[in-house]
Amino acid sequence: MRTLSVIVPCYNEEENVRYFYDELMKNADFFAGKDLVCEIIYVDDGSSDGTAEAVRTLAKEDPHVHLVSFSRNFGKEAGLYAGMKKSTGEFVVTMDVDLQDPPSLLPEMFKYIEEGYDSVATRRVSRKGEPPIRSFFARRFYRLINRMSKTEIVDGARDYRLMTRQFVNAILEMPEYNRFTKGIFSWVGYETKWLEFENIERAKGETKWSFWKLFIYAIDGIVAFTTAPLAIASFMGVLFCVLAFILIIVTIVRKLVFGDPTSGWPSLVCIISLISGVQLFCLGIIGQYLSKTYMEVKKRPIYLIREEF
Ligand code: UDP
Ligand code: MG
Repeated sequence: MRTLSVIVPCYNEEENVRYFYDELMKNADFFAGKDLVCEIIYVDDGSSDGTAEAVRTLAKEDPHVHLVSFSRNFGKEAGLYAGMKKSTGEFVVTMDVDLQDPPSLLPEMFKYIEEGYDSVATRRVSRKGEPPIRSFFARRFYRLINRMSKTEIVDGARDYRLMTRQFVNAILEMPEYNRFTKGIFSWVGYETKWLEFENIERAKGETKWSFWKLFIYAIDGIVAFTTAPLAIASFMGVLFCVLAFILIIVTIVRKLVFGDPTSGWPSLVCIISLISGVQLFCLGIIGQYLSKTYMEVKKRPIYLIREEF
């Protein structure tokens, strides 16, 4: 018998816990046929509703159900990491509890693992059912980060991924505090097969991602996987030095040739405002990296466990 660890991060998802289990178990025949035992690890990310209780009830019926409960909300990325740490399976799959990652895709994913791929990833080809403004900014973000980073971040990639033990161990070797999982999956390399599916709307409850949270997430992703903004900041510095140099020469020549009187106050204000803006912007970029470095050197744990079985 081989074990397949199913990692399911949950944050206030009490109504989805059992529903997910039932949907997953519709593949029971497939698992049996492949000699696979399913180990289901629910990671309760500091939920304030009855998520942990729902998992406990489920675990009484099926001993293959496990729970890792955090002391507070640490975020989905921490949940995925905790789940991988706990997993014992030869194969590991990470999926959302809201059934936006269809369990019916598992047999096809498994086929590719058997063909020798180290991981089978999924991406949704449409953003149907999502607010248009959100899709727009999401697209811009992927364009931007891929232009800046050497690590490929696939547009529409979900965290629904079937992996071999070797692949999971590689990820566990990256104990960084600022976890941008989409980038980490790609950074480790190995052979990945991409499967595509149409976007599915979440089963019950509401998305935990507000627009603001997504924006912060996007900045985190950029800071975690590219230092290009730092290069842009220094490039702007050089550019403005050159401009300033030209301006100095123009001003001196104008003074000598035309004996320029004390005009030019408006242009001075514009120049000072522009340059201070650019300076603050660049300082902000440095600040972003510095703050991430600060969090990283503190070596705080990625998550804290309240309950585990
Ligand atoms: N999630 C989590 N911690 C959080 C936010 C979300 O563990 O702080 C889980 C959530 O329960 C779900 C998955 O991550 O299983 C995806 O979240 P959601 O469906 O809200 O995001 P979306 O699918 O809208 O991107
Ligand atoms: Mg979802």
